[in-house]
Amino acid sequence: MLDWLKGKGLPGQTPKYVFVVGGVMSGIGKGVVTSGIARILKAKGFKVTAIKIDPYINVDAGTMNPTEHGEVFVLEDGYETDQDMGNYERFLGETLPNINYMTTGRVYQEVIRRERNLEYKGKNVEVVPDIPLEVIRRIEEAQKTANAEITLTEVGGTIGEYQNIIFLEAARMMKQKYPHDVAIVMVSYVPIPGHVGEMKTKPTQYAARSLNAVGLQADVIMARASRPIDQKRKEKIAVFCNTLPERVISAPDVESIYDVPINYEKDGLGDILTDILGLPKRKTDLGDWETFVQKSKSATRELKVAVVGKYFDTGEFTLADSYISVLEALKHAGAHQGAKVKISYINSKDFESGARKVEELKDFDGVVVPGGFGEKGIDGILSVIRFARENKIPYFGLCYGMQLAVVEYARNVVGLEGANTVETDPGSVHPIIDVMPDQKEKLIKQDYGGTMRLGTYKAVLTDGTIAKEAYGKSEVDERHRHRYEVNPEYIEKLEQGGLIFSGRSPSGKLMEIAELPKDKHPFYLGTQFHPELLSRPLGPHPLFMAFVKIALAGAKN
Ligand code: GLN
Repeated sequence: MLDWLKGKGLPGQTPKYVFVVGGVMSGIGKGVVTSGIARILKAKGFKVTAIKIDPYINVDAGTMNPTEHGEVFVLEDGYETDQDMGNYERFLGETLPNINYMTTGRVYQEVIRRERNLEYKGKNVEVVPDIPLEVIRRIEEAQKTANAEITLTEVGGTIGEYQNIIFLEAARMMKQKYPHDVAIVMVSYVPIPGHVGEMKTKPTQYAARSLNAVGLQADVIMARASRPIDQKRKEKIAVFCNTLPERVISAPDVESIYDVPINYEKDGLGDILTDILGLPKRKTDLGDWETFVQKSKSATRELKVAVVGKYFDTGEFTLADSYISVLEALKHAGAHQGAKVKISYINSKDFESGARKVEELKDFDGVVVPGGFGEKGIDGILSVIRFARENKIPYFGLCYGMQLAVVEYARNVVGLEGANTVETDPGSVHPIIDVMPDQKEKLIKQDYGGTMRLGTYKAVLTDGTIAKEAYGKSEVDERHRHRYEVNPEYIEKLEQGGLIFSGRSPSGKLMEIAELPKDKHPFYLGTQFHPELLSRPLGPHPLFMAFVKIALAGAKN
């Protein structure tokens, strides 16, 4: 018997596996679909985990520009992943480990490492089956790590392309190994061409055929469209794609992504999946989720926040994906305080070119500067921070947004002319933000991938500060992703100049939070870490809550 087929599933056994694949085109929100399904199954009381597969060669998402692939989501254990992992964490309300994320690069790297160690015992190592077997090994390990009854795996890319074929092969082999325990969900796009005005199912039919060509049959088809799909089209898709009409689920565009699980449940998706997987029927309890969605919909106040960043340019289009967790964190905090947060994404380079004036910020109730790297757009950001500080507009800086706030303060308040971060100005006379000693070596060796200060580290908070008051405790764990730090040699000068470091590493050496006292500014706070990564719809982040609260208090509307 083939070794990998050992442990073949029996009817009714757990664990169960669901693969989510995409048909027709990318960008239709497979990640949100997967997250929505995960939430529904969790709401049925199952232990669920979710895995993301990205088909590119990059070993992780850390080396990619956000304009290429959206935000880099850092896991608790420091692994740099795709933004979909953030959606999974937000929808599941759980932290996920790095085994739940893989790329082609990561899989090959492991197979090659093992081959070099003679772990294949002289065998010819082949793309098939050895690569899919490593994929399956990782999926099973993720299942074990989470002790999951149901493991969801989202296969990135679209059916029919070359890149993800090896992962579809893994799904096929899983189905062969566990014939009763694997369900395939195809997320397909159903266009309504303007000139026809009718929902067309042909692209979905072709996608289903392409899936058949790699040996897989879709059990459930999610019909992503601008509108809900009607019964007639459900039947048509069912006939041509070889499934049942009730297994074609309406997945229309929604006002809020948090509507998604509630919508799918209207079509009974949870029961359909447990039925396919041979799991017992259970009630779906989305109560707390519905309360949150209700809260965000009934919010009456409006809060205008400017998110000033540098990762927006993709040709003619603006890509908000670069800061997706920031957007969600603001929305969560707003909803919990009865406010709809209206976000304007502003490219900091526009302040440099003169296309925009910083005075425009007067129209906003708050300004956020999220994380970033390198020197492009930095002067624009510095002018924004200065304007927010001098005009007492609530300011929240995240990572680079904190470092640059410290630079701005050093220059314009403390009077350290030429103060800068060495990231953009290695020869600065006042290197306020400096590279950490262990990081220096990595930069010299050009050892960039996965080598920043990554993942969860503790911060100890100072009494009587905005930060301490917001968290209501003295120690916090937050996720990091940075190479540079506030230079210890300048701390005293900055403090004498009125800046407060309200959060520090337990050793006291690394500055984690900087803020101004309340009598100087209503809210002027920056974090070296990324609080946005920990905000969830049912658990908004304390610092975002504090920022939104102050911004609301001074709001123009
Ligand atoms: N570029 C800065 C650093 O590496 C900030 C990083 C970030 O904003 N994530 O320290």
